[in-house]
Amino acid sequence: MAIQYIIYIASAYLLSFILCYMIYRLPREKNVIKYEAVCDECNEKVSFWRFIPLFGYIFARGKYGVCGHKMSISRLLVPILAMGLAAWTVFTVKDCENAKEMYRILVLLFSLTMLVVIFTDFETFIIPDTCHVIVIILAILAMIFKFTDVLWGILGGVIFFVSFYVIAFIAIKKTGNKDALGGGDIKLMGVCGLFLGASRCLLGLLIGSFSAFLIEGFLLLTKIKKERGVAFGPYLAIGMMIAAFYGEAILNAYNKLLGIN
Ligand SMILES: [Zn+2]
Repeated sequence: MAIQYIIYIASAYLLSFILCYMIYRLPREKNVIKYEAVCDECNEKVSFWRFIPLFGYIFARGKYGVCGHKMSISRLLVPILAMGLAAWTVFTVKDCENAKEMYRILVLLFSLTMLVVIFTDFETFIIPDTCHVIVIILAILAMIFKFTDVLWGILGGVIFFVSFYVIAFIAIKKTGNKDALGGGDIKLMGVCGLFLGASRCLLGLLIGSFSAFLIEGFLLLTKIKKERGVAFGPYLAIGMMIAAFYGEAILNAYNKLLGIN
């Protein structure tokens, strides 16, 4: 058991190197395939050790080097959160009958992708298409390994993509605000429906919307937040993460409550 925690946490730590790189470069449409150790702000060459997840940030005191530009806080938080998610995955995701390890790996990769969504959308209001593509690949694997029912997954993908598309269309028409609901959010709902299936995706949406309502409402009332648009993506991503970890358990409890099964 302990060895499993070590393997998952170590893998998440190594992956956080790529995650940090994606979070900065994807929304800014910079090349992610060609690796460059440069300052994210001014493209000045930076010594490689500063990019080592977590420790690089701490030892460099959050700065890139000679140019003195500050590193994004994500370079500190993402490795910590990724390792936390890895430990959480081992702790919560129960063994499935077939290919049990595979299911855990898929849930972890899904939640790490949601982590990228949270930071990119929060910092830049953009959810990179690469994240959507990764979730589609994970969804196909989940269907192949029978963790997600094919019909239920496709239904989820179509329902949420179409309904969000319609809502966005109406919202833009009514308010004239083009950013009322971004294309990134619509695609995110579609691909999450594909991965989680219709019912768990609906649960994720409810959790995400409810927390957005509470937190944004609180910030608005207390006037902590200055004028800055609302990024809905991070809330959705957190809701979907919770649905991936606990969806099955919550839905079972709900069905029991209603006397189904
Ligand atoms: Zn710089």
